[in-house]
Amino acid sequence: MTVKELPQEPLEIGLTGGIGSGKSTVSAGLKDRGAVVIDADVIVRELQEPGKPVFEKMVKRWGEKILSAEGGLNRQAVADIVFKDTDELLALNEIVHPLVREEIARLRDQYASGTAPIILDIPLLVESGYEDLDGIIVVDLMSEEAVRRLVAYRGFSEEDANNRISNQVIREERIEKADFVIDNNADLVSLGEEIDRAWNWIEGLSA
Ligand code: ATP
Repeated sequence: MTVKELPQEPLEIGLTGGIGSGKSTVSAGLKDRGAVVIDADVIVRELQEPGKPVFEKMVKRWGEKILSAEGGLNRQAVADIVFKDTDELLALNEIVHPLVREEIARLRDQYASGTAPIILDIPLLVESGYEDLDGIIVVDLMSEEAVRRLVAYRGFSEEDANNRISNQVIREERIEKADFVIDNNADLVSLGEEIDRAWNWIEGLSA
């Protein structure tokens, strides 16, 4: 009897880290090196466009005060509600997560026929309990530096940046779940070297 070789499925690697830790920079770097990326933030934004299911559910819960003059979502108004009240944050997560999970599952299926490693860039990966992955990369950054970068480059107020960071799982908890840690406490050149190291690690997994 001949044993048929099963087609090999691509590796699926979770990428996570705190807000402003450098996830987008890292996922762009991994994409440059040959990965395909599923970006949960992009999916959330798509599902939050007017008329889409997440948008509709959010407006039903919080009313017109979360809308901009143009009728889209006023993200700052939403942030003001949910990052000061954990019950509201929970409610938002209950609206967003199931639909995002569904879309992530659909994209995983779609990419499963290819060979490129799939990077799942999911900010709340550790909190959401994705367990069927081949590995988890955590981008690590000290909270003080994350606040500094969010204020300097992303236009956050210091209060908002601090509130968002304090609503997340603590750094140590996240690192505990990591199979590979990218240190992003230094400059962007060092981050590039860290991305090379991560890519070598991913390639080693498929060897
Ligand atoms: P978010 O949680 O908001 O999605 P993120 O984790 O995806 O953020 P990035 O957007 O990649 O993080 O990085 C946050 C900001 O910090 C960006 O403006 C980015 O260019 C900058 N940045 C990332 N790494 C470094 C670094 N090592 N040195 C300086 N700036 C950096």
